[in-house]
Amino acid sequence: MKTGEPRCKEDPSETFKDGITNGAHWYDVAEASTGAPLSDAVISVAGINHNITTAHFGDYYRLLLPGTYNITAVSPGCMPMTVPGVQVIEGKATELNFTLAPLSNKSISHTTTTNSSPSNTPETNSSNSHSSSSHISDLTHINTSSSASGPQPLQPQEFRHHHNSDMDLFLQRFSTKYPSITRLYSIGKSGQGRLLWVMEISDNPGKHEKGEPEFKYIGNMHGNEVVGRELLLNLIEYLCCNYGSDPEVTQLVNSTRIHIMPSMNPDGYEIAQEGDVSGYRGRNNSNNYDLNRNFPDQFQTITEPRQPETIAVMNWAKSYPFVLSANLHGGSLVVNYPYDDDLLGISSYSRSPDDGVFKMVALAYSRENPLMYKGHPCKDIKEYNDEYFKDGITNGAAWYNVPGGMQDWNYLNTNCFEVTIELGCVKYPPAKELPRYWEQNRRSLLQFIHQVHRGVKGIVTDSKDGTGIPNATITVEGINHPITTNRAGDYWRLLVPGTYHLTASAQGYKSVVTYATVPDGDAEIVDFKLTRDPSSPVIQPNTHEEEFQSFIKQLSVGPGLDQLIQNTATPSSFRYRGYKELSEFLRSLNLNFPKITSLRSLGQSVEFRTIWALEISKNPEMPEPSKPKIRFVAGIHGNAPVGTELLLDFATYLCINYGKNAALTRLINETRIIILPSINPDGRELAKEKECSSSVGMTNAYGKDLDTDFFGNASQRSTEAQPETRAVMELIQQRGFTLSVALDGGSVLVTYPYDKPVHKGVCGIVKDKSGKPIVGAVIVLNGGVRVFSGEGGYFHVLLAPGSHSIEAVAEGYQQQRQKVIVSSYEAAIPIVIEFDADNRIFGLPRELVVASAAAAMTALAITACIIWCVCSVKSNRQKDGFHRLRQHRDDYEDEIRLTSMGSKKSLLSHEFQDESESDEDTLYANKL
Ligand SMILES: [Zn+2]
Repeated sequence: MKTGEPRCKEDPSETFKDGITNGAHWYDVAEASTGAPLSDAVISVAGINHNITTAHFGDYYRLLLPGTYNITAVSPGCMPMTVPGVQVIEGKATELNFTLAPLSNKSISHTTTTNSSPSNTPETNSSNSHSSSSHISDLTHINTSSSASGPQPLQPQEFRHHHNSDMDLFLQRFSTKYPSITRLYSIGKSGQGRLLWVMEISDNPGKHEKGEPEFKYIGNMHGNEVVGRELLLNLIEYLCCNYGSDPEVTQLVNSTRIHIMPSMNPDGYEIAQEGDVSGYRGRNNSNNYDLNRNFPDQFQTITEPRQPETIAVMNWAKSYPFVLSANLHGGSLVVNYPYDDDLLGISSYSRSPDDGVFKMVALAYSRENPLMYKGHPCKDIKEYNDEYFKDGITNGAAWYNVPGGMQDWNYLNTNCFEVTIELGCVKYPPAKELPRYWEQNRRSLLQFIHQVHRGVKGIVTDSKDGTGIPNATITVEGINHPITTNRAGDYWRLLVPGTYHLTASAQGYKSVVTYATVPDGDAEIVDFKLTRDPSSPVIQPNTHEEEFQSFIKQLSVGPGLDQLIQNTATPSSFRYRGYKELSEFLRSLNLNFPKITSLRSLGQSVEFRTIWALEISKNPEMPEPSKPKIRFVAGIHGNAPVGTELLLDFATYLCINYGKNAALTRLINETRIIILPSINPDGRELAKEKECSSSVGMTNAYGKDLDTDFFGNASQRSTEAQPETRAVMELIQQRGFTLSVALDGGSVLVTYPYDKPVHKGVCGIVKDKSGKPIVGAVIVLNGGVRVFSGEGGYFHVLLAPGSHSIEAVAEGYQQQRQKVIVSSYEAAIPIVIEFDADNRIFGLPRELVVASAAAAMTALAITACIIWCVCSVKSNRQKDGFHRLRQHRDDYEDEIRLTSMGSKKSLLSHEFQDESESDEDTLYANKL
């Protein structure tokens, strides 16, 4: 345990199962004359025919049941030595150090025996603070007594409550001090704009190493449950300080990519109070939502708006090939594993297909925390005093029903297994108790990370060229939970020890079946070589969805997005360009990438500056009506220039990666992206480099706020539209856009079909009886949302799974109505609406439409994904949508929805709604 490579591996079932819960011994063996540690000394216990040997630092570890033993240490060249009557008591390791005398020397050997004090047995009824002090003194004692005989891991020094700025500095300090094993990155911002930090600790920070599993810890999701936050900072300190000297830490960091997020809810933390035992102040985020009820759920519809912290974590979880994770809470003392809820919403055991694995990893944690393992955690707190958790673990739903929790979402939507760990009965204990929490959880935290190396792992490759196959499926017979391979074809499948029947399959390949035996405490390597199947089955209806997911994964785990986030996260790369510079920049993009860009002027501002539209697509000059068009607009308010810069970066990113990154290439090939970086260049020029909060430059040169200058139709106008508005209106009224994204300063308005299974929709063609496409037909969805058919009669619309009614109206034709079912499984539903006096409907070749629909939807979601990532790291907090939300919150429930879907006053946002809003549960606007 101490070394991370206990050699009791050789005899795992016996010692691991029984010994660890009860008593253990650990030793240091040193040579007397020099004090040098003796490795490979043999430790034998009289009466037990199983010897162990000391590790590199002379340390060793002998699991034993409580009792009295005679123990002998033997090392070549030294006098053997026996210590009789060593007592092992319940729940606490006994320390026994040997100092062996060299054979050539007659000096007397001596031993140090330090039995943990009998008064310190865990079942004492002493209060927490009491036992706290004794634990600490033990710790100190151990360090002192063994310092002469081989290095002990250094313990963290910083035990205090770290407020947000303190925590930020702590993280920066460690990432600066240990650059070779750390990378500090942010995955987004909280509701109040605080960065959500993650510390990566790995021997190759910033890189996924083929075959190396990724692990994460998340703390402080409930802002007032602070123990996890502090423990994770302690863990960062522990890993950093002991890397290279402590064998366990070194081995762990070398073989695992560890991501640590100390605080998921920094806003809630700010208002939480030290001493809070079981309160709620600061539990929720700044919009007063409980983040652990905010994730999409398999049984219930979560109606509360998805929070920025939630979205950031979801996006993060999908961007890395995480294998195992824990979410650290407080208020009880137990490891809680999926599922957290059930169909009926009642408290009863809700078994996931991987119940055995979850129990194994949960027990790995609880076993190392004696108090937790005893299962009567909070006897001193009245309302919980009868709670009992056998072995310190519980199925989530068996305890109480939690819809919308994070752990189930991880398990159901990624390859990552997550549990929720309650670290103590007091949510916000006084700072002086923090050392005790570290001591109680230190072993557990490390042991839990070791669990990522259990089960089977390997690589799925193409037998012909040896390349890894991404998104291949690994299925275990009897467990209905396939795992998919990462970009390089590597995979991890956590399993309890046993023999399994494994299948690897991938599109276009013959499946391979094999058996594997998973040993205790280690992962079995099972590589698969797949051969291409020339008679690959015809494309299944599900293929597009799978392809889509593979596509997203490929993009998200590849260096592309990762790097993009890293690059854009650097504030130094961020600068405001004035009008002249912006125009030059757009021109040079066009000059450098003439094949995939076209630049045109939409018109001019009041002061005769050009309003540019940059198109990025495969054939920018050719009309391709079957391709979906996506529009990005920024700079409505000249004083909020962030959106403009974002779009310029985004455009550069797309152009540079065309032909390099497969996903982006496909995106550009299959869609038409129109970028309007600045529609108020006059205001922008005025506001340039001014304070963001200044209102200088918000309006155009006539003092008109352009955001209020867009109206749904011309007849509603009482005044003439501004020149800028007129220029942009022309583009808007082309009506061919499938998705529109408006970036206004920091408030990013993206309707983002984020969760599986929401990348769905309807696409089709409106034609008349003769087959002639009808342009400009109005498609009314569910009686409200409207889109228009564009060139070639094509239309696209995003819809949530479910039943929808579609009406089509075109001048001179009879109105048509259809019901469509958008399934959760198919990528997009093709529809052909034909106008005809007879009302007769006929279809296009189905294949054609299906292909086009799938391509469209895929591309859309990817764009949204990219944009979301870019925005999440860069957007500033001005005009933060959640601030607006909060203002309205107290007034009306409906108001929240309305605001969260975007202001209805302008056509820009209106249209946005028109084309995308169809189901608030799945298609939502996210304002950062
Ligand atoms: Zn909690």
